Amino acid sequence: MFNHDIGIDLGTANVLIYLKGQGVVLNEPSVVAIDSNSKKALAVGNEARDMLGRTPGEVKAIKPMKDGVIADFDITEVMLDHFIRKAGGKSFLRKPRILICCPSNITGVEKQAIKEAAERTGAKKVFIEEEPKVAAIGAGIDISLPNGNMVIDIGGGTTDIAVLSLGGIVTSSSIRVAGNTFDSDIMKYIKNKYKLLVGDMTAESIKLTIGNVFPSKKNEKSMTVKGRDLTTGLPNSITLTSSEICEALKDSTSIIIHTAKSVLEQTPPELAADIVENGITLTGGGALISGFDKLIQSELKVPVKIAEDPLECVAIGTGIMLENINLVDNV
Ligand code: ADP
Ligand code: MG
Repeated sequence: MFNHDIGIDLGTANVLIYLKGQGVVLNEPSVVAIDSNSKKALAVGNEARDMLGRTPGEVKAIKPMKDGVIADFDITEVMLDHFIRKAGGKSFLRKPRILICCPSNITGVEKQAIKEAAERTGAKKVFIEEEPKVAAIGAGIDISLPNGNMVIDIGGGTTDIAVLSLGGIVTSSSIRVAGNTFDSDIMKYIKNKYKLLVGDMTAESIKLTIGNVFPSKKNEKSMTVKGRDLTTGLPNSITLTSSEICEALKDSTSIIIHTAKSVLEQTPPELAADIVENGITLTGGGALISGFDKLIQSELKVPVKIAEDPLECVAIGTGIMLENINLVDNV
């Protein structure tokens, strides 16, 4: 790897940038604040997120890749360009090679557009890779062997499930049920059960604080949640428990498990046998919800482990791939 190579995890929730010798140098939310009149970008990443809810009416914060598809390409390009320049710094004195890992269900046209946007920043060469492959590599799995491994990456907008062997994806599925869905499940649950309206930031913090998809008496937690009472219109607060969050997330976790089962069913028997041996690896921020490993293990009857750093796995994987450029397809 040349000193000036750049690896990018272009995620629906977070963008991470990896530089050789320095590791992850940027980790910011995939958010852009724009002026709705002039359509100009006012801020990107952390700065844009900090403006959320604290700005005059004409400023809108946009998540351009919200559901794992590029909802707004121009804004995605502004964001990508901003982050590459911010993190790449001196790399651009010598033209860098850039490896970008995109959500796996974007179209070929979108992939090409991202590639061209990165090339316009002055890159010498741009490679695009699929998320599950890079996540597996970042989790320390040697995917070059004729040995089946399964990765479930639970991100913000999508959950990507894949079986890998001999450097490639054998069977896979990508669904739009992931971290953002969990947040809206929690909002809906509280609204239906307690007639209380909470915002999506509150829902996310409930998920991070007491979220559990396989609760037991021992790890039951509770927290007080404030919101607006739907009947009186006034502020009110309630107490929620981990078991209630498990209940709220049940439909979404079932969809993820059902999809993982069908990916396993489509896997050739030899590779399925390897997976029983090697286990399933969980990556992405959603893997951090307590009990996800236990839930999947109990439903699929296969050992499940969580990657060492689920949120940085893909960025670390881009670094490893740039060091071993032969791992990249279409070099
Ligand atoms: P993407 O690759 O789509 O950008 P990430 O892998 O960065 O997504 O994961 C982001 C998602 O992970 C968000 O929905 C966030 O709420 C969730 N998340 C992050 N940390 C935790 C945690 N400790 N517990 C549960 N969910 C988490
Ligand atoms: Mg991701």
